Order: sequence, then structure tokens, then C-alpha cells
Amino acid sequence: MENNKWYEIIEKQINSLKDKMSKGDYSAFELDGLLRIAKRVSSLSAECSQCDEFEAKITSAIANFTDWPNVSKEQKDNYVRTFRNIVKHLENNHRLEPIDSESERKKNRYIGLALITTGIIVPLIITLLLSESFKTNGGGQLGDIGVAVIGGGIIIFIGIPLVIVGVIYVLRGFLGKVRKN
Ligand SMILES: [Zn+2]
Repeated sequence: MENNKWYEIIEKQINSLKDKMSKGDYSAFELDGLLRIAKRVSSLSAECSQCDEFEAKITSAIANFTDWPNVSKEQKDNYVRTFRNIVKHLENNHRLEPIDSESERKKNRYIGLALITTGIIVPLIITLLLSESFKTNGGGQLGDIGVAVIGGGIIIFIGIPLVIVGVIYVLRGFLGKVRKN
């Protein structure tokens, strides 16, 4: 069957199950998750024979649910088994990974920028304050070398790690996979 057509039918059937089932049952059987998986499977079925077979399995698993709540234990077990098998197949063969939504990507970019800024500004301020107090105290206990050592330590142990983690966040914010639906 043409893929988009198949997916549209599945989407309709899952939506009508949403009306029949209680919220608890609907989320216990992860029907929203099934919808996402169905979308993925339908986009892969042309090139992957196993995904092609999964389409038929999803169809019959959902067909078993149409008389909800008149569904046997065996049919429920069958559904759960099908669901797990498909997820496992997608993870192993089609790199199903944690997928970020657009708002998660945006959040990652802000966190990254905040970390980079903090990693640069904090060591700078602390080093400036140290050398100021060194000057006003007419030398104090810290020599120039002391200021350099403490400033350097802060840059190496706080500044650089913050900047590195910040860059990772920003990259993930720009390059992370986007959930399609
Ligand atoms: Zn596949």
C-alpha cells in the first residue's frame, strides 16, 4: 500500500482508540509512541523489508484493539511484543536515538551560550579583583605570581571546562536531530 495512505489510516484508527480508551490505558499502551513509530516505519518500508513487514504487524495489532475494551490478554501481549520488536529494530538498524524537539534545541543553545559566557567572564572578573586588591593593599600577601597562579588555575579548572561544555550544548542545539511530529 502507498505509505502515506497507510500511515493516515493508522493515525485515524489510533485517534479513534483515544476516544474509546481511558487516558491511563492509552498511555499504558503508549499509543502516541506507536504513532511515531508507525511514521518512522512507513518512511522506511520502501527500502527495508523488515519495516515493510512491521506495517502489517502494526495494522493487525491495532485491529485487535478496535473492540476495546474487549481485547484478550493474548492480543494485548501480542501488541506489547510487536511494539518492543519494532523499537529494537529501529534502534539497531535505523539509529533511533534520543530526538530533540525544536524547543529543546533552542534551550540547548541558550544553555551553551550562558556556559561559554560564564566560563570567560568569571575567571576574568576574579583575576581582575585579585590584582586590584593586590594593588590597593600595597602588595598584600599575594604577589604577582600568586595572582597569576590563582587566575590561571581558575581559567584552567573552571573557565575552560565551562566553555567546552558550553560549545557541546551549542552544537547539540544546532545539529541535534529534530523530531518530525
Ligand atoms: Zn527497518
